Formats: sequence, C-alpha cells, structure tokens
Amino acid sequence: MSRVYNFSAGPSALPEAVLRKAGEEIAEWRASGMSVMEMSHRGKDFVGIAEKTEADLRELMAIPANYKVLFLQGGATGQFAGIPMNLLRGKASACYLDTGIWSGKAIDEAKHYCQVELAASGKAQSYTVIPPRAEWKLDPAAAYFHYTANETINGVEFQDIPEVGDLPLVCDMSSNILSRAIDVSKFGLIYAGTQKNMGPAGIVVVIVRDDLIGQAAPQTPGVLDYKKQADNGSMLNTPPTYTWYLLGLVLEWLKAEGGIAALEQRNIRKSAKLYGAIDESPFYSNPVDPSCRSRMNIPFRLANADLEKPFASEAKAAGLANLEGHRSVGGMRVSIYNAMPESGVDALIDFMADFAKRHG
Ligand SMILES: *Cc1c(COP(=O)(O)O)cnc(C)c1O
Repeated sequence: MSRVYNFSAGPSALPEAVLRKAGEEIAEWRASGMSVMEMSHRGKDFVGIAEKTEADLRELMAIPANYKVLFLQGGATGQFAGIPMNLLRGKASACYLDTGIWSGKAIDEAKHYCQVELAASGKAQSYTVIPPRAEWKLDPAAAYFHYTANETINGVEFQDIPEVGDLPLVCDMSSNILSRAIDVSKFGLIYAGTQKNMGPAGIVVVIVRDDLIGQAAPQTPGVLDYKKQADNGSMLNTPPTYTWYLLGLVLEWLKAEGGIAALEQRNIRKSAKLYGAIDESPFYSNPVDPSCRSRMNIPFRLANADLEKPFASEAKAAGLANLEGHRSVGGMRVSIYNAMPESGVDALIDFMADFAKRHG
C-alpha cells in the first residue's frame, strides 16, 4: 500500500519529508547514540531541540518578545478550562462568541469557572455565517473576549482579526495556525493543538502576553498554570518529547517551503479551486457564506444524500482517504492543511467530476 491523500481533520496528514526525516533519525538522533524518545527531557540534546522549536515558531509567526510560548498537554480542550483559570484575574465574567461546535465546547467548559457573556451566536443560521461585528454585545467588565478563528467542523473561518476594544483577545487557532499571516501583537492569548496543522497529537501551544500571567486562580493545577509553566520552560512535568521534536521538524519544513506567506498563497489556491469545483456543480454544495468560508476545512453535501456513503468508499479506493464529515453533522468534509499538496486537491477535484458524471 502506498501513501494516500489523507483529508483527515485531525490527527491529520504530515509532510512526507518530515516523516522520512524522522524515520532516518528514529533509532539514533545525530550523534547522541539514542532516539529522541529515549532522551532525558532535561539533557542538553533535548533542551536544544525544545529551544530550537520555540525559536522557529517565534520566527515564523513573528511573535513579539513580550509573549511567552508554552508547550502544554491536555489539548485545546484542557485550555477551555485553563484559560478562565488563568485569565479571569479576579473578574467574574468573560465574553465568548459562538460560531460553531468548537466555540460551543469552549463556552460550556468556561461556564464552570465564570459567567459567560455571549457576544453573539451563529446558531440560528446553523453556523453557516459569522454574526456581523455590529451585532456583538461586548461586556466591558469581562476579563477577556474568546473566539474560534476556524471552526473545524462547520467550515467557518475569520478572514480578519476582530476588533474588541480593550478586552484581551483570546483565540482558539487549533485548525488554522500557521496557515495564514496574523499579527500576534493584537492578541492576549493564542492557543492551538498540534494535531491539525503543526504535527502529531500531544501538545497544545499557548502564546500568551506577559502581563496576563501570574494571577491564576488559587486552585489552578500546576500543569495548567501559565506562570509556573513559563518559569519551568514548559517542563513542570515530563513533556511529550517526541511530539515536541516532530513539531520542530514541521516548523523546519515550513521555513524551507518559504514560510507562512508562501503557505498562505498555496492555501488560497487550494481552497479556491475546491470551492470552485463545488459551486459550479449542481451535484455538490457547500452551505457556508462565501464571506467566511474556511481555507482549511471544507464541508460539502451531495444533492442526493444516498450517494454520500458510496462517494466516501469509492474515494477511499481511489487513494483519497477520510472524506466523511464529522459524526455530528454528516455529509463530507475535506481538510486541506499545510501538509496537503496541491496535487491532492487536484486529484480530489478530478474524482468529484468523475463521480458526478457516473452518478449524475
Ligand atoms: C480539534 C480542535 C479542538 C480540540 O483539540 P483537542 O486537542 O482534541 O483538545 C479545539 N478547537 C478546535 C478549533 C479544534 O479544531
């Protein structure tokens, strides 16, 4: 079996060059005499890998010096709790924008820690559009404003950074970090799990402005306390060392590909082609408002829903894997993160045309 084009939403495809490099180094990393998996996380070799990974991320995203970069565990889901625990700083409420399934989960978890002020919700439109900024209600007494930059399941993505006045802007970028240029200095905190666009599962990266840390609620577990983790180089306990190393290889690959600007152009081309193929065919449809369509996760339906199962199984036989939509919404979903080559999108578009011809 050769490698397929893998359109999985997460864990998702990694660049083949990264996997080959990891393969070459798997039993012995450089002249260390051992695998990265076997090293002490406090030894010079691993500390070097960890520091290089952080330096490359800072360079790629142009992260200002007054931000900490943390490599934590418990996923983005852990941060749904970690964020209120660290950022409430004695305040009673936080503002959340509801744009789909992931922001909904962040809201449900935050309710255990604070009063959630809903700025707006896209629920009445079945999350096919981001509520217009003019309709948001902002609570000036809130500790922060939280939103989800890309709704991985609904296929809705912000094209700009929202303006929320003095409220620290907190953003779940799990499924679009490193896919487009962003100005980090506009944010109080950015977080993202590695398994969508940065590497294998196991780490959640937290980028947080210095002045927001150090006031965690007293009951905050040490592993979720940003100040304690920052003071310990994200090694308050043993970190997922091999995921950290692979994240580093993905960042090296990204730099070699020309950095985020080059990837952003490629992502624009890939997603435009696929939306074009969906829109021009009566056989396929995407429900999301064109103003907020995701470049990363593209859900679509077949006009005849009975053909969705055969579509997925025939695609799989043709080397196009993991096209089924999320179990909660059905239909199809195409995830085309940085690691998906343009040839994979082209192969999918050809398959879609052929399938429509045969079944239309
Ligand atoms: C996948 C995902 C999550 C959850 O990530 P875990 O690492 O499984 O906790 C949260 N938010 C978004 C936008 C996601 O895509």
